[in-house]
Amino acid sequence: MNKLSLEDLEVSGKKVLMRVDFNVPLDDNCNITDDTRIKAALPSIEYLIKRGAKLILVSHLGRPKGKINEKMRLTPAALRLGELLGITVRKANDCVGSEVEKEVDNLKSSDVLLLENTRFHEEEESNDANFSQSMAKLADIYVNDAFGTAHRAHASTVGVTKFVNKAACGFLMEKEIKALSKLIENPERPFTLIMGGAKLADKIPVMESLIDKIDTLLLGGGVAYTFCKAKNWTIGNSLVDESKIDVAKEIITKMRKARVELHTPLDHIIAQRISKDANVIVTERGAVPTGWVGVDIGPQAIEEYNTEIRLSKTVFWNGPVGVFEIEKFAKGSIAIAKALASNTAAYTVVGGGDSVAAVNKAGVADKISHISTGGGASLEYLAGIELPGIAALTDK
Ligand code: AMP
Repeated sequence: MNKLSLEDLEVSGKKVLMRVDFNVPLDDNCNITDDTRIKAALPSIEYLIKRGAKLILVSHLGRPKGKINEKMRLTPAALRLGELLGITVRKANDCVGSEVEKEVDNLKSSDVLLLENTRFHEEEESNDANFSQSMAKLADIYVNDAFGTAHRAHASTVGVTKFVNKAACGFLMEKEIKALSKLIENPERPFTLIMGGAKLADKIPVMESLIDKIDTLLLGGGVAYTFCKAKNWTIGNSLVDESKIDVAKEIITKMRKARVELHTPLDHIIAQRISKDANVIVTERGAVPTGWVGVDIGPQAIEEYNTEIRLSKTVFWNGPVGVFEIEKFAKGSIAIAKALASNTAAYTVVGGGDSVAAVNKAGVADKISHISTGGGASLEYLAGIELPGIAALTDK
């Protein structure tokens, strides 16, 4: 990477504003249900504490849409971080303004202050210059370690960099880029791309951009049905993006020309509605009958996808292959997670909140080569799109 790294900085006694991704899932009582993202930021945080920086952390959480939302405060994240570090992490009530400035002035070397949710201000997402400047004013140095939001040009990821002398890349950000670039720079073949989930529009750029690098494309989840329909199969009431049927047809043709094997599921688990109480049956073949919805890949598809994964040397997976939030529609996604984990000879990468959750549910996270903390960001990176949060950092 040609960007300034945390290691290039003299941080002792300096006020370091670090953008982290503490956008953690909370339950109804504001308890953190998964602290993976906080843990992932620890290497940079511990490095800065050890070197005596005055650390100011900043993050968003959820979608409060520019208003204070008591359920989206970062207080639980501050407490959890304090537990993980074994120190008291201070928590500010805002991310800009005179009160916060006072708290920052009171920081001593190795203290940690977490600012409040940036998205309580609508200026965060509109990348407002004044707001960015107020945030930048708090610090001597800025570091971005929030890979998960690197694809968004917001005040705390992009705007702020215009008002600081140095904007550097954190360790997590570096680790993510290194792990993902391994997929596009000389990946070992055969390379299998597995795409599931619901939002086909987010996945198409990756499929197109990786055409010449992959050998196999395995489709599952909601995104598979637009391809099934493009092949003129019946899909019943399954999820479909009508606006993308022509694109799907083009992708089928391009993949054939590039000799990429494109698989849609050989069979499906279908239900009359997406509900945990629905009756389910397995189709005999790849079509879904009228009145039914495809909710997971079927046993033949699992077997076929397992074989493809077993034969691969590189695998990237984004998006569950079924509505895995409902236990009885989660078998396919759990099977994919386990297949990736069993292929210890391959370089395996999983990106996207839901597929990562499936890997955790299968209990195989430690057997995957890299688990990305960024869903959208990893897709855009692999699609060759420049991530604004990285582009904005200071060149080496
Ligand atoms: P994405 O963010 O595009 O990766 O989509 C993730 C979502 O896709 C999850 O909430 C899944 O429940 C959903 N999903 C997976 N398979 C299906 C399906 N067959 N029909 C509808 N939604 C699905």
